[in-house]
Amino acid sequence: MYILPNDTNAPQLDSAAARQFRRGFRWLRFADKALESDFRHHHRLNVRSTVAVHLWLAIVLLTGFILINQQVLNREQTKSLLILTAIAVGILTLCAVVIVSTKYQKYYHRFIQWLAPLFGLCAVANSFIDRPFVVSLTPTIVLVITGMYLMAGMLFVPALCGGVFVFIGYCVTGRFMQVPTSELFYNATVLISTNAIAATACFTLERLRRINFLEARLLAEMANRDGLTGIYNRRAFDEHLQRVWQVAVREEVPVALLLIDIDCFKLYNDHYGHQAGDECLKKVANILSTLARRPLDLSARYGGEEFAMILYDAQRDYVEELTQIIRNELRELNVLHAASEIAEYLTVSIGAACITPELRRSPAGWVQLADQALYEAKDTGRNRCIIMDKEYAQLATGRYGIADKQTT
Ligand code: GH3
Ligand code: MG
Ligand code: MG
Repeated sequence: MYILPNDTNAPQLDSAAARQFRRGFRWLRFADKALESDFRHHHRLNVRSTVAVHLWLAIVLLTGFILINQQVLNREQTKSLLILTAIAVGILTLCAVVIVSTKYQKYYHRFIQWLAPLFGLCAVANSFIDRPFVVSLTPTIVLVITGMYLMAGMLFVPALCGGVFVFIGYCVTGRFMQVPTSELFYNATVLISTNAIAATACFTLERLRRINFLEARLLAEMANRDGLTGIYNRRAFDEHLQRVWQVAVREEVPVALLLIDIDCFKLYNDHYGHQAGDECLKKVANILSTLARRPLDLSARYGGEEFAMILYDAQRDYVEELTQIIRNELRELNVLHAASEIAEYLTVSIGAACITPELRRSPAGWVQLADQALYEAKDTGRNRCIIMDKEYAQLATGRYGIADKQTT
């Protein structure tokens, strides 16, 4: 099922794909450069095997044409035809090799946008060699134009340029070769119609491909988001934790993990109701998501009324400053909590673990340290932040090695 652009039920994610999806697209181009480049990459990978089959099929058919022509034409014509067909087969083979090659397939679209019109010119020349002796029309040109739009994996704009170029090529050569006007006019009409039909199909196909691409992107993004708050969910957090751990081990960079738990939230729900509780969760999530803006930082809903922040390249000073900002921003929102045992407004407790990951350890110890810090923050009165770092050295969890095999 398609979620059509401009659908009011489209998800309100803040990503390039979501923005493009909400805005829709009249022309076959995405506003965001990275998104457009991703689409082209994705498109190339998607059509790769099908286009390779089409190209090899075209090579076989072209060879078949040579055999047929040899039966019907005289020696002189066969020679010129052979040269032309050899060029055409060469072009097709080059394209087929490029698209199947892992190294060069990224250049396929650049290749094909120049080689397809050249291939079309071969068909035009071929039709004029055939003309006085075999047939007056140019079925090969019709085939080439159709193939360019629908079988070569080309995007609409380059395919349209190629199709129009071949059409103009035919008209100019026809005039130059003094083809009778009626014949030229008839053939030109056929070629215009071929262009119009194939271009319409190509346009529709690319539009659907783009919609499909955006939908797949959005679904993937939504699978990583928490349904209530819109920030990353536990699944995304777990994946990101592993990734950041690996990068930090390689780069020997300090990282920090913050666990943020709302204080006395059960009492809040009991006092104000669950819907008001949900609004609180959204507010806290909003503060955290705006504070995780660096490329490898991430804010997520860890579960229930607990949130987590992963900070890459974060020294203790930075973490101290950031936790203060989180608590200040929440204070400024002044969410009243009449039932709280700590304050008159909503507060959070934060446990932070600042470490430098090592190869012989796993992220399990990192999470446990943050958990311990949060526990201490709760235990010592809530509405505070406890940062742990040196304690990491004594922690057994997440240690690999002969002495401690049972650890994770
Ligand atoms: P503490 O200060 O020790 O953290 O106390 P607490 O009441 O915040 O913690 P507790 O674990 O006792 O209760 C957590 C509450 O969070 C209970 C649950 O109803 C509430 N909660 C969890 N998920 C949601 C949610 O999605 N929406 C709402 N409104 N409440 C939630
Ligand atoms: Mg709580
Ligand atoms: Mg909790």
